[in-house]
Amino acid sequence: MKVLSVNCGSSSLKFQMYEMPEEKVLISGVFERIGIDGSFYTIKLNGEKTKKEVALPNHDVAVNYLTEELLSNHVIESLDEIKGIGHRIVAGGDKFDKTVVIDDKVLADIDYLSLLAPLHNPAAVVGIKAFRKAVPNAVATAVFDTAFHQTMPKENYLYPVPEEWYTKYSVRRYGAHGTSHKYVSARMNEILGRTDTKLITCHIGNGGSISAVLNGKCLNTSMGFTPNAGIIMGSRCGDMDATIVTYMMEQTGMSPKEMDNALNKQSGLLAVSGISSDSRDIEDGIKAGNAKCALAQKMFVNRIVDFIAKYYVELGGCDAIVFTAGIGENSISTRAEIIEKLAVLGVKLDASANDVRGVERCITAKDSKIPCWIIPTDEELMIARDTYELAK
Ligand code: AMP
Repeated sequence: MKVLSVNCGSSSLKFQMYEMPEEKVLISGVFERIGIDGSFYTIKLNGEKTKKEVALPNHDVAVNYLTEELLSNHVIESLDEIKGIGHRIVAGGDKFDKTVVIDDKVLADIDYLSLLAPLHNPAAVVGIKAFRKAVPNAVATAVFDTAFHQTMPKENYLYPVPEEWYTKYSVRRYGAHGTSHKYVSARMNEILGRTDTKLITCHIGNGGSISAVLNGKCLNTSMGFTPNAGIIMGSRCGDMDATIVTYMMEQTGMSPKEMDNALNKQSGLLAVSGISSDSRDIEDGIKAGNAKCALAQKMFVNRIVDFIAKYYVELGGCDAIVFTAGIGENSISTRAEIIEKLAVLGVKLDASANDVRGVERCITAKDSKIPCWIIPTDEELMIARDTYELAK
């Protein structure tokens, strides 16, 4: 069965088509600068990448190019072969705790939840509508980034603020990267050969979150009401004293929009290093003797270790720690620095095993009390799996 995994941004559309249940990737690609000058798309087929510069005034046009490519490359002979289309949705609020088939009510709910993800949910709605027009017979599903975290107990998702903030304004912890935490925790359980496990999953990319996963279910996660909570990120501050916000707004006259921009786009590694939000630049800076980069990296690693330690206690131990996403999969030095700080828990790095990028493997010594693993995440595959289950 052919299943399409889709991730729509306001000016982009990423896709990957699978043959299911074999989980074979048939074709993938990305449409960029939709609605902006200079739009183009790239397609990867049989290991070959091609780029085409075309006008993409809206998502409908991008979807039409996509279906033309599928047909002209004989990935499919008819659009009816596409049985399922899974859409990645950033915010599911507390309305969705699992992947669902999209009907008019679900679509309206996703649209309503734009309140919680003003940049992402509206783009997904546009994408869902575009695919509905182009491939009306496929089962469309919504796969929520927040769904995996809906198992958190109330004491972990509530904030200690006036109750009305929650009951009237929906202010609570929702978490993010749930599809990734779900994928890597399920894979880790597969490796361990059991499901009654205590796992700490570290999704560390440009955005990042750490989760405590008990028996396959999320117990706690570091991201909060929005994705600007928990660890330090590329350009987001993560957790901090909330009163700094009102203090700085009073001191400088910053508007809410300007404050939001400062906390999400001008903070994190970028602010501390003064040069970049990209951990590769920070690593290069450290090698060149840049003290600000060294400080940024120290703060970054410390905050991650804080969460691992907290979740170790909360879980009452830990069977494995997982590293995933851009930095977790690829930054040898960041993983090493985190693991070295966990020595007090009996965690021991195997430096030569850790000397890899983007491959699944255990990176701790045989006598390490907690094994640490790199597990490359695959959110697209997770979307395809969920969609296949609902479409078959
Ligand atoms: P993601 O958001 O998961 O795509 O991760 C993006 C981040 O991964 C980038 O900001 C980079 O800092 C980081 N990254 C990717 N490749 C490497 C690498 N080889 N070494 C260190 N960091 C990397």
